[in-house]
Amino acid sequence: LNDVTDQLATTRPGTVYLVGAGPGAADLITVRGLRLLRSADVVVYDALIDPGLLEELSLHAERVYAGKRGYCVGNTLQETIHDLLVNRAREGLTVVRLKGGDPCVFGRGGEEAEYLAAHGIPFEIVPGVTSAVGACAAANIPLTHRDAGQAVALVTGHFDPDSPDCRLNWAGLAGMSNIVVYMGLRHLERIVAKLADAGMAVDTPAAVIERATRPDQRIIDGTLESIAGLATDADVQAPAVLVVGECVRFRERLLALAERAAEVVA
Ligand code: SAH
Repeated sequence: LNDVTDQLATTRPGTVYLVGAGPGAADLITVRGLRLLRSADVVVYDALIDPGLLEELSLHAERVYAGKRGYCVGNTLQETIHDLLVNRAREGLTVVRLKGGDPCVFGRGGEEAEYLAAHGIPFEIVPGVTSAVGACAAANIPLTHRDAGQAVALVTGHFDPDSPDCRLNWAGLAGMSNIVVYMGLRHLERIVAKLADAGMAVDTPAAVIERATRPDQRIIDGTLESIAGLATDADVQAPAVLVVGECVRFRERLLALAERAAEVVA
């Protein structure tokens, strides 16, 4: 009987924590996320994770790279990650699934949570600063400034705007005060053209923020009309977000004010 009780105790599944690592810089993870990372038995992490975060793992922790170019390829990737999370949890281990930004903002955290729940694995979603929010903060763009409209749309630019996979309502988006596009680099030119065709003013301020909150972050400023060309000229690479809307105008204003303040102090 003791054997059986032991076995039951060891096979009680561990918890899987779906943890947001924040927008880029290692120290932008939440306190809770960091605490869980330090105590995890297994950490399954994505390509966008700052390597500095991995230095926080305990010595015994198993680390599994699950980036698109690493762990496995093609459409089996997501299923393989699902199975790995379930299998390790069933061994009674505490698992951290570490994702860039927030796990549930274009991060498939919802799908992983569903899979875990369906397989009887306890889980907890730990929020992170999503890159739209982190990038705008790092670029001095006050995303919901009261004078810059009353709404923000978070948009995926992953799908070819001219393919049936893309179900974005361009007229609706063109009418928004502020939008942030994730994964939009490949289709940048056509995304901005769709917005302009749908009636968004071509002189609407826009910015592309590359590698936000990292030491080598770059910010390209322009307008709806010019931003795609400027981003190409600057050879912007992923990860980057596109921000379009009145909120971007406040960046220039803030920078000018800050400069003037610095002159006064000097
Ligand atoms: N769950 C993540 C998003 C994953 S999708 C989040 O909440 O932020 C990947 C996209 O996120 C990238 O294509 C890019 O648009 C954006 N992104 C992630 N990290 C970024 C960074 N440091 N700077 C700019 N954009 C970033």
